[in-house]
Amino acid sequence: MSELPADPHRFVRRVPDGDDRERRVCSDCGFVDYENPKIVVGAVVSHGARLLLCRRAIEPRRGFWTLPAGYLELGEATEAGAVREAWEEARAEIEIDQLLAVYSIPRISQVQLIYRARLTRPEVAPGPESEEVGLFAWDDIPWDRIAFPSVHWALAAWDESRGRAGFAPYTNPPGATGDMRRAGRIKGEGA
Ligand SMILES: [Zn+2]
Repeated sequence: MSELPADPHRFVRRVPDGDDRERRVCSDCGFVDYENPKIVVGAVVSHGARLLLCRRAIEPRRGFWTLPAGYLELGEATEAGAVREAWEEARAEIEIDQLLAVYSIPRISQVQLIYRARLTRPEVAPGPESEEVGLFAWDDIPWDRIAFPSVHWALAAWDESRGRAGFAPYTNPPGATGDMRRAGRIKGEGA
């Protein structure tokens, strides 16, 4: 399995027959290497009235606060991915309540699925990608040190969903794309 294939693909960019945009196509065998958006899974995790936030130890937006979230792995269910990310980034054991929001960040081809969840035990601690983790009362959230627009959106959605169950997931605020480039700060939203 570790050997290179005898005839590796030789990719060129062209529009395949019947398609309407350029793809990476093997000029030998015609294989099309479709490139598709990345899925980010995460959670707004509450413990009583407090919310779990992680201060990023990595770029982009190192030192800023975010939700436990990250890329879904191959073969992984979205809920399982959100549970895994909460553990990896905050050593948090969580129980998912329901899907809180679905966000599109088209400029960086990212789709985010953010769950509403609860801590199942109160202990949290920073994982390797976090400098610090904390449970914040709403009024103590470091609003001017939030890493990404979608973190603001998800926190607002969580606040609006308090006491509600069985609601439809929230989506991008009207007109909001999550594009941070226009703000001149960083290249895009990371995970
Ligand atoms: Zn090929």
